[in-house]
Amino acid sequence: MREETKCLHAGYTPKNGEPRVVPICQSTTYLYESTDEVGALFDLTKNGYFYSRIANPTVCAVEDKIAALEGGVGALCTTSGQAANLLAVLNICSAGDSIISAPTIYGGTINLFAVTLKRLGIECIFVDPEASEEEIQKAFKPNTRLVFGETIANPAICVFDIEKFASIAHKNGVPLIIDNTFATPILCRPFEFGADIVTHSTTKYMDGHAVQVGGVIVDSGNFDWTNGKYPELCEPDESYHGLRYVEAFGNAAYITKARVQLMRDFGVYPGATAAFYLNLGLETLAVRMERYCENAEKVARHFAASDKVESVSYPSLETDPYHERAKKYLPKGCSGVLSFTIKGGREKAAKFMDSLKLASNEVHVADIRTCVLHPASATHRQLTDEQLIAAGINPGLIRFSVGLENVDDIIEDIDQALANI
Ligand SMILES: *Cc1c(COP(=O)(O)O)cnc(C)c1O
Repeated sequence: MREETKCLHAGYTPKNGEPRVVPICQSTTYLYESTDEVGALFDLTKNGYFYSRIANPTVCAVEDKIAALEGGVGALCTTSGQAANLLAVLNICSAGDSIISAPTIYGGTINLFAVTLKRLGIECIFVDPEASEEEIQKAFKPNTRLVFGETIANPAICVFDIEKFASIAHKNGVPLIIDNTFATPILCRPFEFGADIVTHSTTKYMDGHAVQVGGVIVDSGNFDWTNGKYPELCEPDESYHGLRYVEAFGNAAYITKARVQLMRDFGVYPGATAAFYLNLGLETLAVRMERYCENAEKVARHFAASDKVESVSYPSLETDPYHERAKKYLPKGCSGVLSFTIKGGREKAAKFMDSLKLASNEVHVADIRTCVLHPASATHRQLTDEQLIAAGINPGLIRFSVGLENVDDIIEDIDQALANI
């Protein structure tokens, strides 16, 4: 199946007389006829649903669809993108370990890594993603467990060199985790460039309609966990009578452990209705991404031509520093999100935002409706000016998320707001 077809058909194949659309299995529990069978489910020696904190048929259909879209061996949905990144890291990190991340990532992820994981005893070392391999190598320590980056950074709109980081990570025997939220598997499939684990905030393009918060972790199945660095995947798990994940689940060891151990213990699994809505969004993902890219490119060129705009970040523009890299990683387009800096800094930025009539000023991005946000006063307000600059964010920067309205209406709105500042 090609992408558009997977969006509609992967993950759920009804049999004769069954519902055409993925049904909402709104049940916390599942009936069995024998105690032995339930015991086997708890021991993981038998496959099946037994409690909706760990798995549910509606959610699993959506997980299988996303795994198919990314080209992975399995996926696990979570109640938010934050929960996805948290579990993706904790699945292979404990107190005393360290991780390496680009600083050009979502503000919430910076807080998670730099503040909350630190409290749990996990150190995050931020490295400049444009540094040389030798420079980046210096951040690795014997306790390094993983490397993390975003395909298209929110909101700096930098394109991450996935292949370069996969190669450095693998030389050091650790996996590369890529947050692929903005690109979606329609525009980039990080596994094809060597990434090992992919995460998403499904709140953004995958859901697409701003109806609910959610996340997902996808496992490529390619990483070798038996290299001596990952005892939690190779040595007996006491909470499952000494089960060894790699031995029992092969190349699906990572994603199975995330579900049966971490999801069991943390309980951040979405409900069936949430998955049903996510699935509706996924059905049109491929078509929507195509139009987002088309609209955003026109809007980016329009901003770039305005004498009131200092700079525009959108990698499809020939003048963008990430243009060449985007040709490799994002050949079909760079999503609907761009950022720009208005001449006159913070004050003019606020005036522009307040003058918009069609585009909404809201804390959201990658929505079906055009929306704008001032990161320095919203999503990234916890960051110091130094951290802002490191994340690639000018205090006067505006993130502009182009929606699926007629692009001429979006441009007319921009023009009247620019005229007003
Ligand atoms: C929004 C976002 C997150 C966090 O996801 P939530 O669903 O809001 O918890 C993580 N990464 C990126 C790139 C995001 O844009």
